Order: sequence, then C-alpha cells, then structure tokens
Amino acid sequence: MPSFNPKHRYTTGGQITIALYRIMQAMDHLLRERGKDTGLSPAQIQALLFLKYVRPGARTIGGLAQRLAVTYATASGVADALERKRLVRRAPEPEDQRVVTLGLTPEGQREVEALEDVLDEIEAAVNALPEAEQSALLRATQAIVRRLQRAGYVKVYEMCWHCQFFRQDAHPSDPRGPHHCAFMDAPLPEPDTYLECPDFVPAETKGG
Ligand code: SF4
Repeated sequence: MPSFNPKHRYTTGGQITIALYRIMQAMDHLLRERGKDTGLSPAQIQALLFLKYVRPGARTIGGLAQRLAVTYATASGVADALERKRLVRRAPEPEDQRVVTLGLTPEGQREVEALEDVLDEIEAAVNALPEAEQSALLRATQAIVRRLQRAGYVKVYEMCWHCQFFRQDAHPSDPRGPHHCAFMDAPLPEPDTYLECPDFVPAETKGG
C-alpha cells in the first residue's frame, strides 16, 4: 500500500516513512528560510557547503551535479549564480587545464561559515532523545541509507579514515602527503583525509 495513503500509516513502516518525509520537509523549510535571509536558493546553499567540505578533485561542475542530483546544465547554472554573487570562482585545474574547478572566494568562505548551522534544529531534536533511542535511531537510519545507496538512490560522501581505499602512513616522508588513496593511486595530505569524498567505500565491505 502506498505510504501516502493515510490508512497505511497505521503500520510501523508506513508511519516511519511518513515521519522521514516530514523531516525532509523540515530540512527543506530550514534551507528555504535561510535562503530568504541570505538571498540564496537551497541548491546554492548546498553547493557552498559542498565546496567547503568535498575533497579537491571533486570540486567540479560534474561533482556538483552528482552531489545535487541534478543535470550538468543545472549545476552549471547554480555555479554561474554563485559566481555572479562573487561567492565562487572557476579556475582551470593546475594539472589538467581542460578541467575547470570551482572554489570558494573569501566572501564565499565567510558566507558558508554563517550557513553551517542551518540544520541545527534537526540535530537539537535528535539530541533531545534519550541516548539509547539515539543509538537505535543511528543504527536504523544507517541501515536505511546503506540500502538506498546500494539501490543507487543516494550517494554517500564520507572522509578517508573508514574507507577501504585508505592506506594510513603508507609513505610518511612523502612531501605530497603521508597517507595513500588506493582508489586514486595518489598520496593524501593529512587535511584532505578529513574531507568528504564521493568515492568512499566503507572498509567493512572489503572483500564482501
Ligand atoms: S576513495 Fe577513500 S581513501 Fe580515497 S580519497 Fe576517497 S575516501 Fe579517501
């Protein structure tokens, strides 16, 4: 039975699905309200947060399109609007001039720092739950996300430390970085290991 059918909401699964949908609506509302204050659309806010936290190689129009789950043309339009507001600038990739990267300007950095608390109301609601309920909710939501990720409905961005491609201290004296990414076959400087990566694969799935 469809989740939106009120009769279905008497089932546990139906009620949880609708609750998740309402949380998504609340997040959307918070983004829109913040956008009214700053003159930014929800997509522009998400793009600024993406550019602050994603690893350098993914800061492209293609990377932004993947993150926002939109077409390349739409992502390019979001980048254009942010460029006009002087919050983002395009620049050619030093190692491959054909690739255009996106970066935050100093004004963009300041703007994104002021935006980072946009989902604090959601976190406050979670923090108000007893600790045991938070733990159960964490396990349950992670399991739901893993299933949606396997089905291709959501892309998970995480940092290196629990990724199966991460080789900690693989070459400690290398000036390019002490760690190694086996996916990119490239050294990783320490600060980059704390950025989000679209190629992350959890270490526990290795071999399975
Ligand atoms: S693939 Fe894994 S190890 Fe490589 S940069 Fe991404 S998260 Fe880090």
